[in-house]
Amino acid sequence: MKCELCGAQAAVDKKTTKSFGRGDSLVIIENIPIIHCSSCHESYLTADTAREIDRIRKNRRSRGKAKRVLVASFTKSAA
Ligand SMILES: [Zn+2]
Repeated sequence: MKCELCGAQAAVDKKTTKSFGRGDSLVIIENIPIIHCSSCHESYLTADTAREIDRIRKNRRSRGKAKRVLVASFTKSAA
């Protein structure tokens, strides 16, 4: 499909997993549909997807399934 950013016919649907927030508000959302362009190498969400992510984050207590997740943190800085 056409990339909304560069206009090339190089965009494809993909699924990704992202985490949002931190600490008590942390939620990990799996299977987020994203659009990835192999021409400009950008990935982006549609407006609908962004809205749905907002909804899931607000309702994470009811939408989320408690999973046992190991969260590792970087302790080194980039410098
Ligand atoms: Zn593009």
